[in-house]
Amino acid sequence: MLQSPVEFFRTLPKKVCPECGQQVMEQAESYLQECDRCLSKKVE
Ligand SMILES: [Zn+2]
Repeated sequence: MLQSPVEFFRTLPKKVCPECGQQVMEQAESYLQECDRCLSKKVE
């Protein structure tokens, strides 16, 4: 069964933080995986 491109993008999984499983807000220039909370924990 073929999916239309629109439907394909709509069904893409949300980006989720691998650390805590929280949904990560998409940021255009961000390639980071973790959410803000986990990132701030990592940064010394
Ligand atoms: Zn997190």
